[in-house]
Parts: sequence; C-alpha cells; structure tokens
Amino acid sequence: MKVLKFGGSSVAKPENIIKIKNIISKYNDPIILVVSALGGVTDLLLEAGSLASAQDQSYKKILSTLEERHLSTIKELIPVIGQSKVLSKVKSEFNILETLLEGAFFIGEITPKLSDKIVSYGELLSSYIISEYLISEKLDAEFKDSRELIITQKLNGKNVVNFTKTNANCSAYFKASKKKVIVCPGFIATSEEGVSTTLGRGGSDYTAAIYAAAIDANILEIWTDVSGMYTANPKMVKQAKAIPHISYEEAMELSHFGAKVLYPPTIQPVLSKGISIVIKNTFSPDEEGTLITKSKNEKGKTVRGISHIGNIALLSLEGPGMVGIPGISKRFFEVLSQADISVVLITQASSEHSICVGISANDVDKAVSIVNEAFEYEIERGRIKQVIPEKDLAIVALVGDNMKSHQGLSGKMFSTLGKNNVNIRVIAQGASERNISCVINENDVKKALNALHEEFFEENIKQLNLFVMGVGNVGAKFLEQIKEQRKFLKENLKLNIRVIGMSNSRTMLFDEKGIDLNDWSTKLAVGQKADKVKFLELVNSLNFRNSIFVDNTASEEVSNTYSEYLGNSISVVTCNKIACSSAFENYSHLKSLARTYNAPFLFETNVGAGLPIIDTLKHLIASGDKILKIQAVLSGSLNFVFNNFNDQTTFHDVVKQAQEEGYTEPDPKIDLSGVDVMRKILILARESGNQLEISDITNNPFLPEESLNTANNDEFFASLVQNEAHFQSLYTSAKKSDSKLKYVAQFDDGKASVGLQEIPKGHDFYNLEGSDNIVLFYTERYPNQPMIIKGAGAGAAVTASGIFADIIRIGNF
Ligand code: ADP
Ligand code: ASP
Ligand code: MG
Repeated sequence: MKVLKFGGSSVAKPENIIKIKNIISKYNDPIILVVSALGGVTDLLLEAGSLASAQDQSYKKILSTLEERHLSTIKELIPVIGQSKVLSKVKSEFNILETLLEGAFFIGEITPKLSDKIVSYGELLSSYIISEYLISEKLDAEFKDSRELIITQKLNGKNVVNFTKTNANCSAYFKASKKKVIVCPGFIATSEEGVSTTLGRGGSDYTAAIYAAAIDANILEIWTDVSGMYTANPKMVKQAKAIPHISYEEAMELSHFGAKVLYPPTIQPVLSKGISIVIKNTFSPDEEGTLITKSKNEKGKTVRGISHIGNIALLSLEGPGMVGIPGISKRFFEVLSQADISVVLITQASSEHSICVGISANDVDKAVSIVNEAFEYEIERGRIKQVIPEKDLAIVALVGDNMKSHQGLSGKMFSTLGKNNVNIRVIAQGASERNISCVINENDVKKALNALHEEFFEENIKQLNLFVMGVGNVGAKFLEQIKEQRKFLKENLKLNIRVIGMSNSRTMLFDEKGIDLNDWSTKLAVGQKADKVKFLELVNSLNFRNSIFVDNTASEEVSNTYSEYLGNSISVVTCNKIACSSAFENYSHLKSLARTYNAPFLFETNVGAGLPIIDTLKHLIASGDKILKIQAVLSGSLNFVFNNFNDQTTFHDVVKQAQEEGYTEPDPKIDLSGVDVMRKILILARESGNQLEISDITNNPFLPEESLNTANNDEFFASLVQNEAHFQSLYTSAKKSDSKLKYVAQFDDGKASVGLQEIPKGHDFYNLEGSDNIVLFYTERYPNQPMIIKGAGAGAAVTASGIFADIIRIGNF
C-alpha cells in the first residue's frame, strides 16, 4: 500500500484535482489519499473565526465566498446527475459551520476547541468532494474521516498523537478495506474525549506519515507545488534546484529551519519504520522530485540546503549575577516553556554572562513580561538586566550531514554574508554539526539566501547587479559591450552580469529581473522621472548581493552620492574624475568606506580611459615598489588637438572637431585649461601614496587670459577665434626647433605640474598619435628605463571597456 498526500495548492482548483485523478490512475497498488483543504481555505476559516469572535459581521462574507467556492468545485467536477447529493451534503456542512461562527460572534470569543472545530471543515469538505469526484470517475474509491482514526491526547497542554490507539485504528481499518483508493482528510484528528483537534499548520503531511507508518506502507509520497525539497526555497532563490536524494536528518533539519515543503513532525513516524518519502510536483509529475531515506548523503556534498525562518525575535538575559550561579538558565527556559513559547535557537557566551534565545516574534511581548517578572528579584538588585527584545530578525541555516567533516564552512558562510553587508547578530552551530545557523535582519534574508546559494551551490557563478547612472556616449557603449559579452563572461569567467537599474538625466528604469539590453533605450524613455535620491533609495531597498553603482556622468552631484553607496556595501565604478580629484579628505574617506564595507571603489578610467594605468600603479605599490617620477601625456583631447593643429588649420576648428568627435569633456575648457590633466596627475600622485590637493599642482596655462575667463562654450569658442595668432605662434615656435607640442603632466619629488611643452624628436612623447596617452613610471625598480603604458586614452568605446574591466575586477574580488 502507498500513501499519497496532496497539499493545498494541489487541490486548490478543479483542474488541479483532475490532475490528481490522472496521477493516481496510473498506480496499481491500493492508495491512501490524504488531502489538504482547498488552497487558502484554512487561512480563511481562521480569519472568519477571529472576525466572528471580534463581533465583526464581515466573517459572513468569507463564509459565503467559501461556500460558493466549494459548490462551484463540485459543479465543475461531478456530472450533473451525481451532483445533488454532494451539493446538499456540503450545504448542510456549511449550515453547521455558520452556526459555529455565529456562536463565536454572539459570545465574542473563540476557544481553541471551537477554532479547531471550525478549521477542520477545510479538510473535511475537500476530502469528501474529492472522494465523490473519484467515485464519479469510476475509481474504486471511498471516503474515511481521519477523526475516526487519529486520536490525540493532551501532553503539557498540547495535543499529541496517541500512537497506540491511532495505530490500532489505522491498521484495523486500512487492512479491512478492500477499496483501491481511500480518501482521508489531512490535518484533523479527535481527542480522547471525542472532540475535533488538529495537528498543527501544515499538518496534513503528518497525517499521511502517521498512516504510512501505521500500515507499513512501502512509500510515502508528498505531492505539492514544487518538484521536491530544494537547495533553498525556490520562491526566494531562483537558482535553487531540487535535491535528488537527502537523508531523514537533513530533511528534518531543513524543514525545522523553515523549508515549509515538509511539515517537521512528518519524518519521525516514517523514520522509525525506514519508509522512504518522495516529494513530487503535482503540476510536473514526470520530474523526479526528492527522495528522503535513511541512506547517507552522497560523498562530497557538504551543504545540502539552506533554509530560513522569518519573524524571529531575540531575547537576551544578561547581567553580572548570572556568572557561576547554577539554575539561571533552567529558570529562564522553564518560564518560557510554561508559557508555551518555543525556543528556536540558543547561544550562551562562554563567560556565562548572557544567554540569548531566538523565539517567534509573535511571542516576544509575552516573553519579555514573564521573564522580567520571573527575575524580578535579581533585576531589582541589579544582578540581572531587564530583558531587551530585538525584533524583525530571521534565522538562516546551512544544513548537511557531511558538514562536520569539512573545515572552513562557517568561515565561508560568514565571509559571504559579511561581503554582502549582512550583519550577523547571533551564531549557533548544532553539536551534530548538521546545521550552522545565524540570526540576521529580516530584510536581508533574500540577499543572504541568494548570496549563500551562489557560494555553495552555483558552481561559483557569481551574479553582479549593476545600477548604471548615465547612458550617454560612454554609458550606451558600456551597455552594448555588456550585452555582447554576457554569454562569454558567464561561460568563461562564471560571472552573470545583470543591469537592474539605469538612469539618464530625464528618466530612470528598474527591473529586478534584469533589464533587457536589446531595447533598454525605448523602455528608459518611458521610465519614471529621474531622481538621484530615489535611485539610491531603490538600489538600497532592492538590497541585492554584489551590487555595483556605475557612474558614467561627469556630474559632481552624482559623485557626492558615492559615500551613500559604499556605506551600504555597494561597490562604485566610475569614469567621473570629480570625486577622486576633490579634497583629499573626501577621496580618502571614500577609500576607507570601501575598505570598511568591503565594497570596491574603482576608477581606472579616470586616467587614460581603458588603459590599465591605475591598476598597474596599484600593483607596483602593493608589491613594494616606490614611485620616483611620473611623466605623462594624459589628455587624449589635447593630444588630438595638437596633433591636428598646424598652419593649415585654425585652432578653433580643431577644438570644435575634437568636441564633436567626443574627445573632449562636454565643456572643452576643462581640457584646454589643463584642469582635466591636473585632476589626472593628482589622482596618480594620490594613488602613489601622496597627500596632495589640486591647489598644490602648478598649472602653466597656454590659453590666453581672455579664453580662460569665458563664461560659457560660445564665449570660449569665440575667444579661440580672436586669439588665433597666439596659437599659431605656439605652433611656429615648436616647428622651428623640430619639436611637437604636447601637453605634459609631471610628478617628481612630491611636486606636480602640467603645461604645454615642445617635445624634441627622439623623445618617448614625440610620436604620440591621435588621442593616445602615454605614462612613464620611474620607480625604484624601473629607475632609468621607465615602465611605459601607451595607447588610446580617450573615446567612448575605450572608456566603456575600462569601466567594464573594473566590473570584472569586482567580479573576481
Ligand atoms: P502544500 O500546500 O503542498 O503542503 P506548502 O506550501 O506547505 O505546500 O509547501 C510547499 C512550499 O514550500 C513551496 O511552494 C515553497 O515555497 C516552500 N519551500 C520553502 N522552502 C523550500 C525548499 N527548501 N524546497 C522546496 N520548497 C520550499
Ligand atoms: N490545511 C492545513 C494548513 O493549511 C494543513 C495542511 O495543508 O497541511 O495548515
Ligand atoms: Mg504543506
């Protein structure tokens, strides 16, 4: 004989019930079919009960919706000729239910006994209707009320199963029955006094396990809405996978820690008989599901699953009067147990100075008052402090039989959480080492589960979640490059890059599942109004692991938000130079936030676009080298201008062309005045370990005073026309000495300067083409022959690829 249990969602709609019939029709063995109430009915019955007891008439509305739902299920499933008997039976049950609720309404109270009675109708009705439907489909089926089989008794105020009586009832009944399918309601039972009781929320699984054990079934099948017990709750972790095979102990641990797919008490009865459990999906019956048996888990698998329990509160009992005094913990736990408060997690500091327990947040107010009352004497004398509860917490647990024989798992767990800025309040590890759990903030749960899942199950595929501000020239190229490379990165670098949010100056767009990069611009155009503060709030509230804020703007306002991102463990990648060339204090504050919150702050593209200048510098320093001198041509824009300017052109036209081709900042004066190069050499000097301000840099301008003092682009360009003779004279002078004009930045002996120089033939800078950049690093290890980095140093595509490289650096971090 087999026992099959179908849960609430499997019986929620008539079409689902037809699926059940199709599934069981394929079985040859006789079946005990345990069913839950139609999905959601238990909750509604409880709600109706509580409304009625609060003398709120709206319970009647719930009742009539429920009646309507059951009647229409009958009408859809059972042919008209067989309907009337079933309809009238169900109607009469609803009349009784109405009377019960009326009772609660008039008295203004609901007792546990009455609540159990009311809620039992969910399973009673579903199982009756399903049995009648199967009979109408010519299956050899019958209905049996579980209340005639499962008997409960009171133990410490709780209903527990009396197995002696229950097993005797079950084996007598099921052995005698000759029917192919016996349909029984899950969840409900009877007390020894003959009153309806229940087995706890989710208890239909338990009903099925009790039957399976009582009749020595060859298998217990739990049919639900997912394809087995997963590595994590599939509703929270999209990448979770069904676990093919798991031990009873592991399954029990996972279910205890929140894997609702199996009600925790279910395992005990079948475990002692060695009956296997299979978890299957009613909506995908061909999938293998999860097999739960005695056998040990396969070799090599350490962590089998991750689960969590929400709505947890911590209660800490502490004080100097606890040290060395026996019996304090006993009293603490006794008080909680007497109040029927179950303790989910315990930790005690080795100094015995404090004991901390995790309990359901629903119990916390009661717990605080009873504990404070119980320790009133000690509290008054200052030996123990008043207990202080902490709410809005959750427990996350890693589970696996083989965890005990592996080192480093807890380290990996905590560092993964730490890297994602998940604060761990309390840690507990079971002595069996089958479970490592920690208490975290409730609103970090999704991030924690996904980060842990990625670390322990996803063959190191790391998801990077990008929030991109600025999708103009550089930003658009960057998005295009991500689109092209996504597949390669996933396959080769195990990085899954998703763009979750983006914004330009007008609108912004968010998609939790990742924005489709094929048509982002049309969607962004109709997105919500751009707002930098709201953007930040949204990034924070999504609370994704491995979040990266990408700044492709040149805006100071945007650069002022970096600290908010870094302070929330969100990495920042930027081609915007403003932050790194602002006051040294701000620059070093951002770097220290990045270290404190484990969130890289990368700005490779601040100097030389995509050229690996800053990264190389960092590596030189990290390996113990010392920078002696830096000489560089760092302005792709100025290089472009002076490479194209001669006596056949005008300075104005060349600058205009550079602006139009995207080689200059939107405001070209920033380039031509030398400010842009000052910023760059400042950043290189700082990255070499020097505390410099922009005002410490000597700027030898080549622009005439008049051009420097212009107020806008138009005035600036007009002044270039006015001063053409000045620019021509610069050109002629260089030409005379067979030199070329280059805008050079220098850092030497702690001092930095920028200015136009005539570079003679043979110099490393002489042949610099187009918008190329070049940097010479003279270091202790490269004192005479400098390390040279040279190549395209401006342009949207190379800048975008430099940003991309920073993202990949974070991926490998
Ligand atoms: P039923 O109504 O069939 O008894 P439940 O809702 O009680 O179904 O249990 C199934 C649900 O358990 C799934 O839909 C899923 O959301 C949740 N769940 C939580 N953790 C896990 C897990 N580790 N594996 C599978 N499901 C899980
Ligand atoms: N219907 C009950 C509940 O919702 C029992 C079950 O479905 O297992 O808790
Ligand atoms: Mg369930």
